[in-house]
Amino acid sequence: MVHINSNFQKLPGSYLFSEVARRVSVYAGAHPNSNIIRLGIGDVTRPLPDAVTAAMHQAVDEMGTAEGFHGYGPEQGYDFLRTAIALHDYQERGITIDPSEIFVSDGAKSDCGNIGDIFGPENIVAVCDPVYSVYLDTNVMAGRAGDYDPRTGKWSRIIYMPCTAENDFTPAIPREKADLIYLCFPSNPTGAAATAEQLREWVDYANANGAVILYDSAYEAFITTPGIPHSIFEIEGARTCAIEFRSFSKTAGFTGTRCAYTVIPKELERDGASLNALWNRRQCTKFNGVPYVVQRGAEAVYTPEGRRQVEANLAYYRGNAQVIREGLLAAGLTVSGGVDSPYIWAKTPGGLGSWKFFDLLLDQARVVTTPGAGFGPSGEGYIRLTAFGERGATREAVQRIRSVL
Ligand code: PLP
Repeated sequence: MVHINSNFQKLPGSYLFSEVARRVSVYAGAHPNSNIIRLGIGDVTRPLPDAVTAAMHQAVDEMGTAEGFHGYGPEQGYDFLRTAIALHDYQERGITIDPSEIFVSDGAKSDCGNIGDIFGPENIVAVCDPVYSVYLDTNVMAGRAGDYDPRTGKWSRIIYMPCTAENDFTPAIPREKADLIYLCFPSNPTGAAATAEQLREWVDYANANGAVILYDSAYEAFITTPGIPHSIFEIEGARTCAIEFRSFSKTAGFTGTRCAYTVIPKELERDGASLNALWNRRQCTKFNGVPYVVQRGAEAVYTPEGRRQVEANLAYYRGNAQVIREGLLAAGLTVSGGVDSPYIWAKTPGGLGSWKFFDLLLDQARVVTTPGAGFGPSGEGYIRLTAFGERGATREAVQRIRSVL
């Protein structure tokens, strides 16, 4: 008789976004034609840059010829893309990353979720609270999380690092010893960015304790404040303790196209094994590479036209972030994020619970947000709004929220 991985049964039933979708659908059913505006889920709305679609068209044409056809590609990604990433995302920022340290993939979500394959079940995991739920849920599936306590909303073997207004939404180093430390800056969901000094503390901690930092930098393209690191590898010592995840999703509109990458330096070893070699082994066994056409599209992001077009899209989303941030501040809410990030993190008024405020905004403003409590216990009392919407709808949503408040 087959036994399932019973860890899956430990996962709480309703995933955040399905519960949001359920409530929105109940509301829409009861109020047809109510013109609901969605500032909840973090998906982009701007089309792919022309430079990207032109490169993809050309790659499709190549694939239709005997000379240009590509079958299985290298599991780690084509050299043309790994070299472009090493040059433009790292070397141009003064960071040395060899193309062989870059693994192209179909998403930072897959990589953040799959990276646990190369680590033992006994490792103690530390996550920010609130957090991008993939880090937690995949460790639950792998049996690293212990048991869930519905009263506290916490897993017994996970170290939670509260990110609150008191610490500017950047976590302090925990007192307990952590092995695998997930950090995400700029943060989903709080929109906070970490300074070089803050990251240096983490790198020093990880090197001193043999820990590994899993650094999710999916939103680095939104950083505007000078001096804020775009990569953990800007910090001295990170090459011996950190893995970095990056994505073309939010940078260049690839949420539906799928392309991302993970950087594992050659110096990073634990238990005498190279983590770069382990990940390579994992990828070669379980992954057959990103489509050639998609990788050509990603390469075009780094051309002069591609960069200009990507920058224009980012400027559009930054403009939305400013509209939301300033509108909510004017409405009297306490707001953070939205400067180096597409996420705006707003405190609920009058001590309202996250879901209560979510329901109020849905019911009275017909605006969908994301309840902060869905990202972890420390998210209670907050909502998250995203700047990825269409400008007119974003303005309208903020206007409606202001009139409700
Ligand atoms: N990491 C964070 C923090 C995210 O918020 C998201 C998507 O929302 C991802 C990773 C997923 O990125 P990708 O589209 O590359 O899978």
